Amino acid sequence: MEVKLLRVTEEGIDLVAEAAKVSGVFSTQSAKEIVELIVDNDYSSVLEHIDLTFDISRISVALSRELLEHRIASHTARSTRYMEEKGFGYYVPRELERKGKEEEARIYREAMKNAKEAYTKLRELGIAKEQARYVLPLALHTHYVVTMNVRSLLNFFMLRLCVRAAPEIRELTMRMYKICLEEYPAIFSNIWCRGFTLGVCPENEVRPNECPFKKILPKKQEIKGKFEERAKRIIEKELKTF
Ligand SMILES: Cc1cc2nc3c(=O)[nH]c(=O)nc-3n(C[C@H](O)[C@H](O)[C@H](O)COP(=O)(O)OP(=O)(O)OC[C@H]3O[C@@H](n4cnc5c(N)ncnc54)[C@H](O)[C@@H]3O)c2cc1C
Repeated sequence: MEVKLLRVTEEGIDLVAEAAKVSGVFSTQSAKEIVELIVDNDYSSVLEHIDLTFDISRISVALSRELLEHRIASHTARSTRYMEEKGFGYYVPRELERKGKEEEARIYREAMKNAKEAYTKLRELGIAKEQARYVLPLALHTHYVVTMNVRSLLNFFMLRLCVRAAPEIRELTMRMYKICLEEYPAIFSNIWCRGFTLGVCPENEVRPNECPFKKILPKKQEIKGKFEERAKRIIEKELKTF
């Protein structure tokens, strides 16, 4: 997997602070302080003024489908309709590269070889790329360009840095996160998965044991359970106001 930053909005901190001032944010604070407040208090629509464009290569089509689920972004992917895929590269899950998984790795590589042979034969028989492509595997390497604004990236990081995200997209997310952190530490240094960012983990019971925060971050249910009944009575009262 390779991840490169193609373009980033320059001087984004000043831009966001200027936009925030238009909406009434206290203007004696520094631009950095304003941006930190915006991130902390989740006044995030002004963060949409900063865009980052990433060039992502050697990822699987399976990952690209997950990436495409993030609708608040601009997506461009390599076309299997127009591009030749003979001799394609493919993703191998790290799990299969472990010691003791030799047989599983062999089966996997054989499936890739069979797909490659089928695709190549179909192409040699004159079948068009747009028809031959249906024998290609989800592991097929693809190339991707994605542009996301910072608000959408925060949402992306909170969801995909979680240990419950699939390993390949979590690796991509971490690489994108490192780039973002380098570009705009004032925005990204207090962001990680939803549990860290919100201070409670919404994954509740499905939080797996490999979650590094499991012992220190409370579940949403635990926190909510402490005030839920009282809060519901307040809501009932509020509803009677009108
Ligand atoms: C651990 C994990 C497991 C997952 N498992 C599955 C699964 O089993 N099946 C599956 O289909 N997907 C699954 N997903 C994908 C998930 O459901 C989301 O589609 C994906 O994470 C994109 O998130 P998003 O909608 O917040 O992002 P975006 O599409 O970028 O949207 C960003 C935000 O914009 C708002 N928004 C966008 N579109 C709308 C809309 N139409 N209406 C209202 N508000 C909108 C929402 O507030 C949303 O959070 C999984 C994701 C994770 C992280």
